[in-house]
Amino acid sequence: MQTLADMLKVEDISFYKFNNRHEPCRLIRYLSQTVSHDGKRRTEETREVQIENITIPDSIKKAIDWNESTGKTYSTNVGATCVSIYPVHGLNSIVGYLSITLSHELSESKNLITSSLLSISQNFHGLLEENQKDKLTGLLNRKTFDDNISKIQNILATTSHDSASYSGDENRVDNTSDEYWLTIIDIDFFKKINDSFGHVYGDEVLLMLSQVMKQNFRPHDLLFRFGGEEFVVIVKVNNQKEAALSFERFRKSIEDFTFPQVGQVTISLGATLIMDQHAIAGDIIGRADQALYHAKNNGRNKLFFYEDLIESGIFEEKIDDGEVELF
Ligand code: GH3
Ligand code: MG
Ligand code: MG
Repeated sequence: MQTLADMLKVEDISFYKFNNRHEPCRLIRYLSQTVSHDGKRRTEETREVQIENITIPDSIKKAIDWNESTGKTYSTNVGATCVSIYPVHGLNSIVGYLSITLSHELSESKNLITSSLLSISQNFHGLLEENQKDKLTGLLNRKTFDDNISKIQNILATTSHDSASYSGDENRVDNTSDEYWLTIIDIDFFKKINDSFGHVYGDEVLLMLSQVMKQNFRPHDLLFRFGGEEFVVIVKVNNQKEAALSFERFRKSIEDFTFPQVGQVTISLGATLIMDQHAIAGDIIGRADQALYHAKNNGRNKLFFYEDLIESGIFEEKIDDGEVELF
């Protein structure tokens, strides 16, 4: 956007990003204004990022219709300015619209430069996106896990003081604070599936399981293929009960699903809370893994929470220098 702004001498360049439900989810805006101060003219730049209450201007709505029917860039004059709107493509679909406002009409050559730059940046982002996905299932791959955990911990660190805060009513504690819960999911007796039906059917089970997973969880939940037949899901919820409902619903969906040829497959799940003080992603996974191990040793096709196992005394915690650690 900065490159385009410099090259085209743009007054306003705005990118409206849409989520996969076609709702606007981010507005990135760059404004440049020439101002006179003490007889001198200088350019003032403003950059804004908006993630809530984004209003879609009429010009963008018209551009969406225009692009859908003609596949072309939309241009219009608004007062003395000219607005050109370009669709921005992701891997499989349009992910947003770039709106460029100029005090003059965009020349043919500058229009070509803009389209070429957009095309380069789309290829670049396509590669980045592809690099984050698991080839077989299309879920996020393990490489992206640590980054995602760090982002969540940063959010938690900045919001932790406001969470579960008293909201002014004596009988009401505001417990709408976000919590992030993670579960590791491991297929039960997967070796048997490979041994009985062959690896191709094994892979088919992994693929179908990931499809059930995508249908079962919400668009903003994070779904990873963590290893061969291991998956990780992170949900943003209000409390453990909601996390349990979400994970349990998925366990049941798999139990009820009939896999072609293979028949019934079950999964075991080990879950835990992502807390901001646990800086190492491995610690969080370690807790979930212990709960998973417990599920494997107690009949499989079950969900256990690390926190419940601590509370019931099945697992023990050691307090060491203020840090909570396991024996
Ligand atoms: P359980 O987890 O219930 O204890 O039993 P399991 O048989 O699932 O145990 P384990 O985790 O030891 O075995 C996993 C097997 O998954 C081993 C490996 O051959 C197979 N596997 C791992 N990755 C893939 C893959 O990408 N495709 C296929 N077809 N098989 C895989
Ligand atoms: Mg395994
Ligand atoms: Mg397994």
